[in-house]
Amino acid sequence: MILRHAKDCTWDGVPVLPYKEDGTIFKSVTRQVLFDGTGDLPVQFRYFEVGPGGHSTLERHQHQHAVMVIRGSGRVLVGDTVHEIGMRDVVHIPPMTWHQFRAPEDGPLGFLCVVAADRDRPQRPDESVLAELRTRPEIAEFIRV
Ligand code: MN
Repeated sequence: MILRHAKDCTWDGVPVLPYKEDGTIFKSVTRQVLFDGTGDLPVQFRYFEVGPGGHSTLERHQHQHAVMVIRGSGRVLVGDTVHEIGMRDVVHIPPMTWHQFRAPEDGPLGFLCVVAADRDRPQRPDESVLAELRTRPEIAEFIRV
């Protein structure tokens, strides 16, 4: 089975969906599901694109993410560190680790993301978690909630 790449990180027949529909805080993110596995490969393989100036939701959860950047560049918070990320860099988000992706103002950040098909719901930070995260100036500047 081949899913043909169409143009600019879209694929033939794959709808470009909203990132989430759960009312959490994010900006300019789209989602495409490239593979929806069952049986001995129970994973979802997705492509997310964060538009210029956009960001994903600040969240954590028990399930993990394996991510590869395939368009543009940006920054990601993983735990207590903000990393610069670029083409073909691979990011692992371990269990219960706060994370958020941001695109630069002048371009998109697109990445592939593998996740377990059966997974827990993301948690959002409460005020005490935000206060703790913001004790680090680098994180206070970075996060969008
Ligand atoms: Mn996540």
